[in-house]
Amino acid sequence: MIRVRFLGTANAFSAGGRSNACIQLTAGRSSILLDCGGSAMPMLKRFSDLAAIDTVVVSHLHGDHFGGLPYLLMDQHFAKRSRPLVIAGPRELEARLQQTSIGLYQDFFATTPLSFAVEHRRFGDGDISVGNVSLRPVPVTHVPESDPHGVRVEVGGKLIAYSGDATWSSALPELAHGADLFICEATNFSTDDPAHLCYRTLMAHRRELDCKRIILTHFGDETLAHLDEVELERAEDGLELEL
Ligand SMILES: [Zn+2]
Repeated sequence: MIRVRFLGTANAFSAGGRSNACIQLTAGRSSILLDCGGSAMPMLKRFSDLAAIDTVVVSHLHGDHFGGLPYLLMDQHFAKRSRPLVIAGPRELEARLQQTSIGLYQDFFATTPLSFAVEHRRFGDGDISVGNVSLRPVPVTHVPESDPHGVRVEVGGKLIAYSGDATWSSALPELAHGADLFICEATNFSTDDPAHLCYRTLMAHRRELDCKRIILTHFGDETLAHLDEVELERAEDGLELEL
């Protein structure tokens, strides 16, 4: 059994007062975050045991997907964490996280060794194994500079696919193939966008997605204004699913 908790279901601009992207997967002793957006900390404190998080997977280099990490690192340092934290993500994530962390708290990050080890795993070198969790990053179409990926996560006997931020491309059927749950962005409702998926476009391609279940997330104002017209499951902040 695996639990999927949505801690942030908005776009970069916290549409509808929702938080930035952050999804927690819990299976046995494994606790994984898919993205840790800039506003993740209040929801993490409300719903999660931060000390239990083993792995954070960052889909791409935008602040609404990794901007919460400096706060998570600092919180765990002052909580005297000793077990390592794995951070998996795009090749430049380690450098970008260092720059961001120092930009936010130079007095801390430029001078203080963390109380725990951070183990970085880079996308682009095939599947990534962390304990009994297997990650398969899949490049998707979004702002190229952000090195965008979706990810397939095998944990607890289930396969969870996550789009990250992506407009429609053949990468999405590849990503979703055989998944028990496909967590898919739907920033827009009917407006095509070179960086983000639009609900109407997703529905036009629905039959190409060979997965058991789809739930939408990463909502912008346009999708939220039409939420009662959306025929697929919709995530909301705090929602928990069991698979
Ligand atoms: Zn985003």
